Amino acid sequence: MKEMIIAKYGEIILKGGNRPRFESILINNINNSLKKVAKTHVKILQATVYVDVEDPEKLDIVLERMSKIFGIVAITKAAVCKKDIEEIKQTAKEYFKESLTEGVTFKVEAKRSDKQFPFTSPEIQQEVGGYLDDEFPISVDVHNPQQTVMVEIRDFGAFLYIRENMLRGQGGMPIGTGSKATLLLSGGIDSPVAGHMIAKRGVEIDAVNFFSFPYTSERAKEKVISLAKIIAQYTSKINLYIVPFTEIQLQIRDNCPEEQMTLLMRRFMMRIAERIAEKNKSKALITGESVGQVASQTLAALDVTNAVVDMPILQPLIGMDKVEIMDRAYKIGTYETSILPYEDCCTVFTPKHPVVNPRRENIEKTEMHLNVEELIEAALQGVEKIEVLPE
Ligand code: ATP
Ligand code: MG
Repeated sequence: MKEMIIAKYGEIILKGGNRPRFESILINNINNSLKKVAKTHVKILQATVYVDVEDPEKLDIVLERMSKIFGIVAITKAAVCKKDIEEIKQTAKEYFKESLTEGVTFKVEAKRSDKQFPFTSPEIQQEVGGYLDDEFPISVDVHNPQQTVMVEIRDFGAFLYIRENMLRGQGGMPIGTGSKATLLLSGGIDSPVAGHMIAKRGVEIDAVNFFSFPYTSERAKEKVISLAKIIAQYTSKINLYIVPFTEIQLQIRDNCPEEQMTLLMRRFMMRIAERIAEKNKSKALITGESVGQVASQTLAALDVTNAVVDMPILQPLIGMDKVEIMDRAYKIGTYETSILPYEDCCTVFTPKHPVVNPRRENIEKTEMHLNVEELIEAALQGVEKIEVLPE
C-alpha cells in the first residue's frame, strides 16, 4: 500500500491576495528542509500540502522534519489509492485495522474536490462507513466519534487517514514571509527560545554571540554553535556572528564601578548587535529577557540597556515565567544543550551587588571613562562569521 505525507497549513489561508506568494515560500522551505533526507515531490492543493516520498523507509524522517516547519498546523501519513470506491474500502480496511479496535466509535468524513468521481461526499461516507461498520466490531457516532476516518478524493488520487492521529505542527508563518531579525544568542536557556518564537512568525534569523576568550572556553563556543544548529532545524540556516568581547569586559572591569558592570556590558552588546544587524539588513534585535528575572532585567535596567539602540528590540519572553520558558526550551529541543555547564561570557564578569534601580545619566557618566566607539570598532574587526546548518 502506498503512503504519502499530507499537511495542513494555517494562517497563510488568511492572507488573501498574498496567498500564492506564501504558498510558494512554504513549498520552498519544505523542499529545503527535506532535500538532504529524502527524494520527495511536494505540491499544494486546496490548503493541503502533499509530499510524495520516493523511498517508503523515509516517511518517518520526512514526517519529523515537516513537524518543524513553520506554517504547518497539522501533519500525518495517509494511504493513497485509486479513485475507485471498492479500492477505497479495501484500503481503509487494511490501513485502519489497528485504529478501529473493538468498541471504538467512528465516523467517515469525505471531501470530494474531483467532481468527476461518481459518488457525492455523503454517499462516500455512507458506503465506506457502512463497510467499515460491517468489517470491524465498532459503531458509528456522527456527533462525537473517537476516530474520524477522512476520505479525500483529489485530482491525483484518494487519500485516507484518521483525523485524530494527525500530529500538531509548529503553526506560525513560513520563514521568509517576515523579513529578518538578529538574535542575541547566549548559551543560556532563554535566548534560543526567544529566537524560536520570533522565527515562528515567519522571520528569518541571524544570531550574534559575545565571546570572552580565554575566560570562556572553546567548549562554550561549541555550545552556542550547537544551539544555533538546533534553531536552524526550524529556520533551515543561521548566520552566526561571534564577537570577541574580552577587551571590552576588561576595560569595564578596570575603569568602572563594579555594580554597573552588567549593564555596561549589555549596552555594548546592544550597540554591536545593532551594527551587525544593520549591515546584514535585519529590521530588529531579539533578546531573551523577562521582567524581573534578574537584576539586569528590572524595567529600569531594561530602559538603560535598550536606550543605546534605535532598532526595535523584540523581547518575546518579557511576560513569561522561568518555568514557562524552560517548558518551551524543552519542547523545541534546546533545553538539554542550554543546561550544559560551560561558562557564558557574562557569568565570568558578574558583579556581586548589581544596581537594581539604575539611571541612564549615571551609566552614561561612567561610559565617559571608556572609549566606546573605539572598543566597538575593534570588536567588529574581530567578528567571525559561521554559517550554521541543521544537522
Ligand atoms: P539567556 O538564558 O538567554 O542567557 P539570561 O536570563 O541569562 O538569558 P541575561 O544574561 O541578562 O539573561 O541576558 C539577557 C539577554 O542578553 C539574553 O537573553 C541574550 O539575548 C543576551 N545575551 C546575554 N549574554 C549574551 C552573550 N554572551 N551573547 C549574546 N547575547 C547575550
Ligand atoms: Mg545568560
